[in-house]
Amino acid sequence: MALTSPDTPVEASNVAEPPTDSSLGRTDNSLTAGAGFDTGRALRELFTSVGNRDGLAQINDTFKSFREAPSAVMGAFPAAGDLLGDLQRVQLAHGPGGIRHDGSPDIQLAQRGERGRVGDRQLPGGLTPAFVKEIKDTYGVDISVRDGKYNLSFKADGKAQAIPLDLPLSSDSLPKIKENLAQLTQERIKAIETKFGITIKHPGEFAGNQQDLCRVDKHERPVENPNDPNAIRSRQPSLPELYALDNALSATAPSQRTTNGKPLEVVFADRAPLKDQKGESQNHLASYMPPEAAHDGAKLFIYPSASKSPPTDKDAKRPEESLAYTIRHEVGHNQQHNAFPDGKLPESVLKELGFIQFANQRFPAHGEEQFKYAIETRDGRFFARAEPDCKSAGGNWYQVDRDGNPLGRGSEKVSDSSRAVKLSDEAMDRLSKRKYPTGYYDTPLEVLSEGFAATTGTAQSKEFLRTRFPHVYRALQTLEQAQNEVFSRKR
Ligand SMILES: [Zn+2]
Repeated sequence: MALTSPDTPVEASNVAEPPTDSSLGRTDNSLTAGAGFDTGRALRELFTSVGNRDGLAQINDTFKSFREAPSAVMGAFPAAGDLLGDLQRVQLAHGPGGIRHDGSPDIQLAQRGERGRVGDRQLPGGLTPAFVKEIKDTYGVDISVRDGKYNLSFKADGKAQAIPLDLPLSSDSLPKIKENLAQLTQERIKAIETKFGITIKHPGEFAGNQQDLCRVDKHERPVENPNDPNAIRSRQPSLPELYALDNALSATAPSQRTTNGKPLEVVFADRAPLKDQKGESQNHLASYMPPEAAHDGAKLFIYPSASKSPPTDKDAKRPEESLAYTIRHEVGHNQQHNAFPDGKLPESVLKELGFIQFANQRFPAHGEEQFKYAIETRDGRFFARAEPDCKSAGGNWYQVDRDGNPLGRGSEKVSDSSRAVKLSDEAMDRLSKRKYPTGYYDTPLEVLSEGFAATTGTAQSKEFLRTRFPHVYRALQTLEQAQNEVFSRKR
């Protein structure tokens, strides 16, 4: 959906925990406390609370301070040296932080491995921990030395994707490794742009301002300002991210096409679109923004939380946890826009999905924002989704009439949604007239996007949707047909 209503996480588990400051704090306490230092426990705690790049940076800072004053640390707390030696070895063997692909910490390795000599920073091929981390952070690639050669790869499509590289094992090769990866990244970007007729926003460009959760209403928004500290900027995608994009677009073509001839623009954003009262970025995965004016293209934003996801369905424990799934979901919104640009869904589709559509009385804007939706329950009532704002996280359902007016206990009209009859998510799961493939069914558009992401996934997930949710499948067929008609008229 539009940037004004960015998609909330499909599943809570899809989202990395926000960085906690406690990890290093705790380690520092252990170090200063001295007695009873348990390397295994400290590692476990540290890794459990890391799981993100900020945490990894903290680990590296610890390495750094240790390097700068090793004797002071070692003299006071011999066990600290073992901990840091282990951390370093895990990091080298498993990429920064020793985080397994599924996000869980791999502490087995540290416990099994022999104790490293403190300060031993000799790595084969002239590699350094800092370089290994830089390559991972910038390109999403793991680097090591194997069989007398540099070994570069990332995991995608359920296997290691090797990057061929033939350079002599020497620290002189390090700049060339970076050059090679930078060039490969540019080649991949160009190839995807050409193959699908899209553009990928150049790194460092202004891509709108991060909005305050307390002021999400469009009418209260500040003027867009690239110099604002909350400016969202595009960043260079990593190779696994580009793999996910290619994978998702291959499965969803031609729905990435637009009807006004302006290519869809994919923006890998450096921050989420919304922050809360404390100024913390919210864990949004991605969003779709239809063209705002005739000369505009549609935009697909991918936020940092989504970038932490496994690249493809085959890499994820559950398909909907992959970055490719998230991208397919957003492409689904583009398909919706192609098929019904004014946002008005046909009665047949609304009926299949068990929703009603009514005018957005607060903001009678143009395009999709001029409509709101409510879900029908088995006893014939209608409930709309409360949107998050400063005061509440949203998330519940409130009763409305067919025109969207909030209704109270006696079915009388009430002044606003906070006074209306409410239903929890759990109650709605039980009471809705129709059933939905995932828990993300705030609007029929989200149901369609979730269905679209499933039917464009693996053969099993397509079959699952077709047999278990035939009404969603039929609605998607209507959409596909409508899009085809629009495309054939434009041809
Ligand atoms: Zn969505």
